[in-house]
Amino acid sequence: MSDAQVSLFTRIINREIPADIVYEDDQCIVINDIAPQAPVHMLVIPRKPLAMLVDAGPEDKMVMGHLLWVAGEVARMRGVDEAFRLVINNGAGAGQTVFHLHLHVLGNTQFDETNLATF
Ligand code: AMP
Repeated sequence: MSDAQVSLFTRIINREIPADIVYEDDQCIVINDIAPQAPVHMLVIPRKPLAMLVDAGPEDKMVMGHLLWVAGEVARMRGVDEAFRLVINNGAGAGQTVFHLHLHVLGNTQFDETNLATF
């Protein structure tokens, strides 16, 4: 894979770019979002550089489930397990800007139906 194809998040995973790391294990890393849209805004990122959710294959089912479990764990760690929201933007048309799959974990904010589109 050429340098140009290495995602920003792979560079963070490889410690080439600094980030505020909340949690990591053999399958994923969790960082605080650099431009938070809520008081708690974390990104759960698989080590495997799937560009988008739709790029996941049957062989990725285990890691996809793991990402959901980790989202709950870090929500609990940050004290927002009573109310948090998960968002995955799939594709530029849905607002995806970093093409390495990630789950947004948003908490400690007011949730209503009007902010569903933009988080
Ligand atoms: P998306 O728009 O769904 O692709 O989300 C990408 C997210 O990555 C945005 O919320 C950005 O604020 C966040 N982001 C971009 N660069 C960094 C970085 N260096 N460290 C942490 N979060 C980042």
